[in-house]
Amino acid sequence: MPSPRLWLRNPLAIFTANGLDARGGLVVQDGRIVELVAAGQQPATPCEQVFDASQHVLTPGLINTHHHFYQTLTRAWAPVVNQPLFPWLKTLYPVWARLTPDQLALATKVALAELLLSGCTTAADHHYLFPDGLEQAIDVQAGVVAELGMRAMLTRGSMSLGEADGGLPPQQTVQRAETILDDSERLIRDYHQRGDGAQVQIALAPCSPFSVTPEIMRASAELAERHDVRLHTHLAETLDEEDFCLQRFGQRTVDYLDSVGWLGPRTWLAHGIHFNDEEIRRLGAAGTGISHCPSSNMRLASGICPTLALEKAGAPVGIGVDGSASNDASNMILEARQALYLQRLRYGAEKVTPEVALGWATRGSAKLLGRSDIGELAPGKQADLALFKLDELRFSGSHDPLSALLLCGADKADRIMIGGKWRVVDGEVEGLDLKGLIAEHTQAARKLIGTL
Ligand SMILES: [Zn+2]
Repeated sequence: MPSPRLWLRNPLAIFTANGLDARGGLVVQDGRIVELVAAGQQPATPCEQVFDASQHVLTPGLINTHHHFYQTLTRAWAPVVNQPLFPWLKTLYPVWARLTPDQLALATKVALAELLLSGCTTAADHHYLFPDGLEQAIDVQAGVVAELGMRAMLTRGSMSLGEADGGLPPQQTVQRAETILDDSERLIRDYHQRGDGAQVQIALAPCSPFSVTPEIMRASAELAERHDVRLHTHLAETLDEEDFCLQRFGQRTVDYLDSVGWLGPRTWLAHGIHFNDEEIRRLGAAGTGISHCPSSNMRLASGICPTLALEKAGAPVGIGVDGSASNDASNMILEARQALYLQRLRYGAEKVTPEVALGWATRGSAKLLGRSDIGELAPGKQADLALFKLDELRFSGSHDPLSALLLCGADKADRIMIGGKWRVVDGEVEGLDLKGLIAEHTQAARKLIGTL
């Protein structure tokens, strides 16, 4: 028995991410979009339910492609507020090494709730900390994802190159290769869903060139190939990292990536800033994706990702908020705004439009995660929708609703639908005690840094 057809009628504005006309809204049934309605038209088949969307700007659910949920516990921490990447990491590692399962659960819930309220329906997390007692980190995260009803790409991160062997992280945060690979295989088996509508997927994500061995990179690529899952890592974020690669491997970052079997369409990279023209060409030819993280790149003064050049070469580009110790907000709609403005500094105002930035945050991000069922509005796609109202002071006097979303700084969705179910209604996450969560998470954050 099919569920009732729901027509989201005549939105104030709609961004389909593919140029299709849906100015009359769209029809949802059984968790999917079944019809787009052109301007001034009615649905082809009558609908049992109608939602008046005339006050809403409607977009595909935004997709976050890079985060470290656990870092919500170390936002705006005074010792690292003014540090660039390497010293920032070295100061934070010993704190993060104390992370417990309960703290991770709270951190994950806070990050996901924050993302959800900012228009995000699918979120990738890069978790690479598995100190003693936290071996089940990804299992903890999968539980929270299910509770909130979001979609997630949980990546099994890893660190295997400690200080003793010339790496950056302290020894207590690294794991043995065998442990990492066995757990990766277990997680794929237990959690990775395939096909349209998947709620949880697993990818393999050795942390960065300066925290994992080439052996782990190679073995992860082989494992990903064997199980047909995706690969994720940080690359070309800072010049310190480039120097590290030159000194340790005698290679620039993309040569290193290629040498360990990662230069291909299965891979998406966080940051991707310091590439020369030849490297951009190679990344494009390989179809390797890039997660642009503008706020983090500005906060750590890492540089500006060459987004348009990468896209022109053939590399898909998506958006990531990055971890909360370097953003420090998990706000996807604001991140699209940051991307718009930072990229205008690089490419000029005419080339980087609100539609381009929203395209990265939706369709581009979906490509990075290897998904064709989300990221745009079209018949057959999942009914993952973000609806924003423009009734706050910040929008007063604005004219073009879609531009206003980014230019006036929308920061909160009014409604969110995931797979046909409303998860946010009137700006509130369904079934979530937000005040209680903030209180518990605040306590946990103080405990982690040792001030409680
Ligand atoms: Zn990161």
